[in-house]
Amino acid sequence: MTKGAMLYEGKAKQVFETDNPNEVIVRFKDDATAFNAQKRGSVDLKGEMNNAITTLIFEYLNTKGIATHFIKKLDEREQLVKKVNIIPLEMVVRNYSAGSMAQRLGVEEGIKSPVTIFDLCYKRDDLGDPLINDHHAVFLGAATYDELDEMYELSSDINDILIDLFDQMNIILIDFKIELGKDSNGKIILADEISPDTCRLWDKDTMKKLDKDRFRRDLGEVTEAYVEIYERLKKVLHK
Ligand code: 5GP
Repeated sequence: MTKGAMLYEGKAKQVFETDNPNEVIVRFKDDATAFNAQKRGSVDLKGEMNNAITTLIFEYLNTKGIATHFIKKLDEREQLVKKVNIIPLEMVVRNYSAGSMAQRLGVEEGIKSPVTIFDLCYKRDDLGDPLINDHHAVFLGAATYDELDEMYELSSDINDILIDLFDQMNIILIDFKIELGKDSNGKIILADEISPDTCRLWDKDTMKKLDKDRFRRDLGEVTEAYVEIYERLKKVLHK
């Protein structure tokens, strides 16, 4: 398998073509951005950690029957994945109040929700990924109502599996964002990454934040948090 031209460069990852039209290589960078790229920086080891963490989580989800784009880890920073057409929606799943929802609703962070909250955002950097509803998503042609139903069900299943996995690591899964894509058969599968960049992860005993909020909010010990998540994940998965 050979690495070809770069197809896409995002804030934290690059995507390269391969000699197989159905497969691409994802490369994880150390670059970090926040608040719609108004804050920029770099976190040592972040690319390697997010590649390793996403690998372990996607492999685990595969064993639990969740279809993902993941094929294999290639090296420290790269993984081979199925090429998908990314659905231009971010699915945010929340178990506790935090971040933009806490701000929007004027509530404290860390309140456990009696129900799972799903926020749909339109993937448009120039608009700041606005919060939208199902009808807007259908209007935009991003998904049909049936596809949205499927996306909510898949996100809920992923949430159940991840809550349990992080619980074993003594971590509360506060919220997370996923991206879904359609494979060559039109099937909706999990794509992108699941890492401390895309989740809020709080230590159960100390409530210490072990995720990208350490970068966003200048809390220090950013690399340490990513490494800590990787170490705990390896331990519970016996890797
Ligand atoms: P919030 O809407 O509270 O800012 O984010 C909710 C959750 O989704 C957090 O775990 C956050 O990390 C994740 N998330 C939402 N949008 C993005 C995004 O554009 N990039 C990344 N890396 N994470 C996001």
